[in-house]
Amino acid sequence: MKKIIILSFLFIFLFGCSKTNSVSNVAKENGAYIKLKIIATMFPVYDFAKSIGGEKTQVSLLTPPGSEPHDYEPTASDLININNADIFVYTGKFMEVWVAEMLKGVTNDKIDIVDTSNGTKIFEDDPHIWLDFEHNRIMAKNIADAMIKKDPSNKDYYEKNLKDLLTKIDKIDNDYFTTLSTCKTKNIVFGGHYAFGYLVRRFNLEYVAAQGFSPDSEPTANDLIKLVRHINEENIGYIFYEELSSTKVPETISKETGAKMLLLSNLESLTKDEVDSGKTFIDAMYENLSNIKIGLDCK
Ligand SMILES: [Zn+2]
Repeated sequence: MKKIIILSFLFIFLFGCSKTNSVSNVAKENGAYIKLKIIATMFPVYDFAKSIGGEKTQVSLLTPPGSEPHDYEPTASDLININNADIFVYTGKFMEVWVAEMLKGVTNDKIDIVDTSNGTKIFEDDPHIWLDFEHNRIMAKNIADAMIKKDPSNKDYYEKNLKDLLTKIDKIDNDYFTTLSTCKTKNIVFGGHYAFGYLVRRFNLEYVAAQGFSPDSEPTANDLIKLVRHINEENIGYIFYEELSSTKVPETISKETGAKMLLLSNLESLTKDEVDSGKTFIDAMYENLSNIKIGLDCK
């Protein structure tokens, strides 16, 4: 009898605990620390979530490295993972257009969905909001807010990491301003899809891209002729290209005009090696600044 009473107390105790865990995410189970499970759709939001969540979280990247996040098709195992996660982070509805449909299949009603574009200024439906440091600040805060709401006991930890990330964003923003105010030319000619609208707007540059907002859009022969003419007329020495897409267009333009090719990463996806090596959003944006500095002849 005693044994049964003890067992039922134990059962109530364990059941009570696990119930508390699933409701308020008290981050302990059987004395062991349980990390917040976070799923982020693509590299910039994945990197911010990792920076802010640190050791208190387990952040997974939904779209595999090297894949195109605009029109990703979620798999059955993605859905299972999301149903087991605490927080789902995505860039915004114009970027991951497939998220709305995917979330209809999510039965986990405890999950917090974070649309990081909340509070950012989106213009002309351009989904590439992470290419503006002002937006990065808002996106990072949205992610930190969700972590604090789910796991309030670690509020100070998340706030400290957010503060560190914001300091780095302030610094790189400032470095961009300083460097880009010294350039001999403002003309960025881009042989990929129109991803850098926010960046050029922020730093008052001029920008021509071979394609539209989506990587699917193919440039027409007329688009290419216009780009070639633009490069020749403005005496532009460099053409930028993006990762993931074919370099056929920039290569053709480069051959036609003599303009040299430089990588400008839109950060939609890094390679597996880059992700595994711990390369950050800020690191990649500094590499972009080095190439812009060469391309626009800045000090
Ligand atoms: Zn894009």
